[in-house]
Amino acid sequence: MLFFFSALACSIAPIEDRWSHGNITQLKDSFTSNFVIENEVDGERRWVVIDTGFNKNTEPLVDFLTEKEASIENIDHVFITHGHGDHIGSHANFTNATFHVNSQDKSLLEAEGITAIETFEAGNEVVLEGVSFLPFAVPGHTSGNVAVLVGEVLIMGGSAQSNKDGDIEVGGKRFAEDWEQAKASLEQLTVDIEPYSEQIEWIVFSHSGPIQGIDKLLAYSAE
Ligand SMILES: [Zn+2]
Repeated sequence: MLFFFSALACSIAPIEDRWSHGNITQLKDSFTSNFVIENEVDGERRWVVIDTGFNKNTEPLVDFLTEKEASIENIDHVFITHGHGDHIGSHANFTNATFHVNSQDKSLLEAEGITAIETFEAGNEVVLEGVSFLPFAVPGHTSGNVAVLVGEVLIMGGSAQSNKDGDIEVGGKRFAEDWEQAKASLEQLTVDIEPYSEQIEWIVFSHSGPIQGIDKLLAYSAE
């Protein structure tokens, strides 16, 4: 396992801890990361977290919220990109949260002991704390895996990764339920995302660094 991650680290663009654009911040958590979105609702600051991170104590998120004079108990909603352990493993720290997941990955959350689950369907907007989350189906990594558009940022989760050449590729072959499907789905995403191409300024990934603009995604081909 260690060898695999160090081999992976040679080619991927490194995660940029605390990268942010507008109200979205990426928090590096070991080899993965989560994203925090801040919004003001009725004069009160609120947060939505995308994926729980890997660290058992959720330290990067706890540190970030502490700086904001908030705590993990203030998180009412967690949006899940897919049901793998490094994205949902520290769910128990979110004592007050509902976990929003594509219906096809619901069983993966239940298997981890998560009970506060609300499902969505890819293509249908989910509004949490006044923020719009638009999920796109990218099956293959898991059957319910999604990328999600939040404002000007497309959050890929585990759908893909950025490499050191600044290109986008499908990563995590060893962890994919269906690797060929994952590649075909990413190519399909280039079609599905096209209507939003003017809106998107950044593409971000759970396991690698951000890419500015959408051109690299639109140029992706499964071949
Ligand atoms: Zn995964």
